[in-house]
Amino acid sequence: MSTLIEEPAEMHNNILIVEDDMAIREMMAFSLRREGFDTYKAASGHEALDQLNRVHPDLIVIDWGLPDMSGIDLIDMIRRDKVIKEVPIIMLTARAEEADKVKGLERGADDYLTKPASMLELMARIRAHLRRSRGFELSHKLEYQGIVMDAEAHEVLIDDEALSLSLTEFKLLKLFLQNPNKLLGREHILNHIWGRNTFVEDRTVDVHILRLRKALKKQGRDKWIQTVRGVGYKLTS
Ligand code: CA
Repeated sequence: MSTLIEEPAEMHNNILIVEDDMAIREMMAFSLRREGFDTYKAASGHEALDQLNRVHPDLIVIDWGLPDMSGIDLIDMIRRDKVIKEVPIIMLTARAEEADKVKGLERGADDYLTKPASMLELMARIRAHLRRSRGFELSHKLEYQGIVMDAEAHEVLIDDEALSLSLTEFKLLKLFLQNPNKLLGREHILNHIWGRNTFVEDRTVDVHILRLRKALKKQGRDKWIQTVRGVGYKLTS
């Protein structure tokens, strides 16, 4: 089994499209890819749950009427999942279901669009929600004992010196900075960085921890990522 995940050269936003109407699904995927998004597609609720076991999307578009469950049931499941519950969700409703949209918003959708939705409108809403969720991260600019992270700018400074990190090491450090002095189990780390990817082994975490330590060594912070034998890791000065 392969243990290392290929890292994208740059950060793209991943959008999961859950829509059983193939024509609409393909049109949305096409429009999103043209705008520089990475897309994942699902034609049913179960396909969506399958995808969510492997990818950690930045936003999900969910059609109200799916063949195997309602979009609302799917949203319920997502909101109950401790790893992905915060993901922005845009719900699509057919005109006949318009009365249900309030219910949809109450049950956890962040926004809704009535079909046929204009692709321009959809893009605008998606961008607005991504900005908002990023803004949320930005307002939590992270700092720990001379390590400063700006998640939006993808920058890390240690004692005012820029640190160059790969995407995975960046995410790892971010998780540690969000939880200083706290023991993080391997599984917890896996879930947060890879979105419960069943193809990723525990050992992958160790490999990336080694890389992160190596990157931190120059500024003498490598020993701050401590191993708690058999359990996980902890950031502590
Ligand atoms: Ca449908």
